[in-house]
Amino acid sequence: MSNTAGLVIPCKAAVSWEAGKPLVIQQVEVAPPQAMEVRVKIKYTSLCHTDLYFWEAKGQTPLFPRIFGHEAAGIIESVGEGVSDLQVGDHVLPVFTGECGDCAHCKSQESNMCDLLRINTDRGVMLSDGKSRFSINGNPINHFLGTSTFSEYTVVHSGCLAKVNPLAPLDKICILSCGVSTGLGATLNVAKPKKGSSVAIFGLGAVGLAAAEGARIAGASRIIGIDLSPKRFDEAKKFGVTEFVNPKEHDRPVQQVIAEMTNGGVDRSVECTGNVNVMVSAFECVHDGWGVAVLVGVPNKDAVFMTKPINLLNERTLKGTFFGNYKPRTDLPSVVDMYMNKKLELDKFITHRLSFSEINKAFEYMVKGEGLRCIISMED
Ligand code: NAD
Ligand code: ZN
Repeated sequence: MSNTAGLVIPCKAAVSWEAGKPLVIQQVEVAPPQAMEVRVKIKYTSLCHTDLYFWEAKGQTPLFPRIFGHEAAGIIESVGEGVSDLQVGDHVLPVFTGECGDCAHCKSQESNMCDLLRINTDRGVMLSDGKSRFSINGNPINHFLGTSTFSEYTVVHSGCLAKVNPLAPLDKICILSCGVSTGLGATLNVAKPKKGSSVAIFGLGAVGLAAAEGARIAGASRIIGIDLSPKRFDEAKKFGVTEFVNPKEHDRPVQQVIAEMTNGGVDRSVECTGNVNVMVSAFECVHDGWGVAVLVGVPNKDAVFMTKPINLLNERTLKGTFFGNYKPRTDLPSVVDMYMNKKLELDKFITHRLSFSEINKAFEYMVKGEGLRCIISMED
């Protein structure tokens, strides 16, 4: 038992009061975990696009004040009633989507879309009692994605915590709790390229470069990176991307350019931009007979995907994935082990480091498209 178990913990959190306005670091009270919940001391957090998107609050219902953050790593401070498989001191990665273990999805080998703990961007409270565990002077502050990691302490459903190897450095593996696992799993679990095959990656942000890392691990011989921003190409070289295509430099559709480069099309493609036209290109650039395209980017909610059905009849496969098809609790420990065994490289994703007090700078980097991942240390 920790000496704070069962007590309210006052601590620092970065509170977002208004869309697009700098976060305010201030004291919040964090209530003890209730049934099936866990309170976690966050050690490191990083910033992902989803945080930025909901902070900007363009195109969705704004929910403020709110504590953002969902890519992180921490140590369990205390556990609520009924939590038997996690203990004080365990090293954990909070995940924006969970694994209850009991629903049809959790029981299926093929799905990670848990009915109970699937991502819910509109909910600002805990499932068990519909209340927030964060408050300032008795006024509740909304949670985000059930994780709210921009706080020294947070309360998370036990089904949204992956227990990982305690020897793994938390300041590196925190990036596995969202973007990197998503891209990596999209390639390794869904596209499944064979050794020696060709893979096209659309969008060379952290998710796309993690997909490229998956292609490198799978032994792909050609990894073609497609992006509109030439500065992404320099970064991508470190990720084993062998060729680059900038659609702006061609007067014909990029799928045609790729088909010409690859004698009819790539074996696999992974789309990591969220732009529906790019999704169509990613599908149409795979080889007929065997090509598989995987959609990862999150499109505008009204976007419609259009292609000629003949493209499918010609034996191309179109798939989509959520969190790289990883079941967070079951599978993330082995992704951490891939890093520990030096199979997966994470350091190259980390381009910036900041202290918690400088968190607003991480938003600035992301808005400017500077770097890939910025690690925020909660301790200094
Ligand atoms: P990012 O913004 O860092 O990277 C996107 C890249 O795509 C940029 O380099 C940009 O220049 C490039 N791009 C944009 N439009 C393009 C176009 N028309 N042609 C070619 N390149 C283009 O984003 P990220 O953090 O890497 O995330 C990528 C996508 O993955 C986002 O849509 C994000 O919402 C999504 N995502 C999905 C899941 C999931 O579970 N399915 C999880 C996390 C993130
Ligand atoms: Zn479930």
